[in-house]
Amino acid sequence: MAALTRISRPSSIPFSNITKCLYFSTTSAAQPETTNNSYLPNINFSRKDPKDRNVQWVFLGVPGVGKGTYASRLSTLLGVPHIATGDLVREELASSGPISQQLAEIVNQGKLVSDEIIFNLLSKRLIAGEAKGESGFILDGFPRTVKQAEILEGVTDIDLVVNLKLREDVLVEKCLGRRICSQCGKNYNVASINVKGENGNPGMSMAPLLPPAQCMSKLITRADDTEEVVKERLRIYNDKSQPVEDFYRSRGKLLEFDLPGGIPASWPRLLEALNLDDYEEKRSAAA
Ligand code: AMP
Repeated sequence: MAALTRISRPSSIPFSNITKCLYFSTTSAAQPETTNNSYLPNINFSRKDPKDRNVQWVFLGVPGVGKGTYASRLSTLLGVPHIATGDLVREELASSGPISQQLAEIVNQGKLVSDEIIFNLLSKRLIAGEAKGESGFILDGFPRTVKQAEILEGVTDIDLVVNLKLREDVLVEKCLGRRICSQCGKNYNVASINVKGENGNPGMSMAPLLPPAQCMSKLITRADDTEEVVKERLRIYNDKSQPVEDFYRSRGKLLEFDLPGGIPASWPRLLEALNLDDYEEKRSAAA
């Protein structure tokens, strides 16, 4: 947890060092069955002492667990960008660029897109952020495979990996209730979850996360939030992404966090687990 005491330090690490290593050309949208290493970056990244830069965190967790919600809140609190690779993929899809048709097929089946495309999109996002003076990051939805984790580990230091966990029956309900405002792009959830406790597990209630009135008529459902695709995404997570938890666990970077319920119950507990519960107070005292 040493990194948590350093979060208010100014940042100076340029992203270009990371992006130089991550950026390479796009060829195919689908994740190849056997990964061809020839396109992988030639890694030569000089690591900076964490006290000289902003936080570099990763949020892991199955689709629908709430990574986006909590990563976005933390990014506002800590003043670091929240970078969700799923959002980058959706932006690429919406742009109707040369690979968007190929991407749509993969994403709508709940499958993973190729490492090449993900690293390209991530690199572009980091370069654009660097130009705006951003530093540090909270990554959400990346890395999704051990290979992605290895590449990331090869180019920079990740300080902390938060692994959000929630019961699977609740997850499916949450995914099916997920909505996005087609205008402002914010995420909401119309599901009202009330599950009884069983087999020693406590019950759980989650109120819907409804949008403001102006967004209500503009809500859309993600094409990959159907029951069939959600189940496929959960299967792929267990197959490809669960090993990423072990990857970070074995490096002593994984913080396991069982969500106790909706945002009102979970947010204060998460801040406590991250040693950030009195962060605002400390920050105003230091100012
Ligand atoms: P998400 O919003 O994180 O559920 O991502 C939506 C979709 O984007 C996923 O189902 C994948 O098809 C794709 N995607 C997002 N991040 C990655 C990644 N790190 N690796 C491969 N595919 C990804």
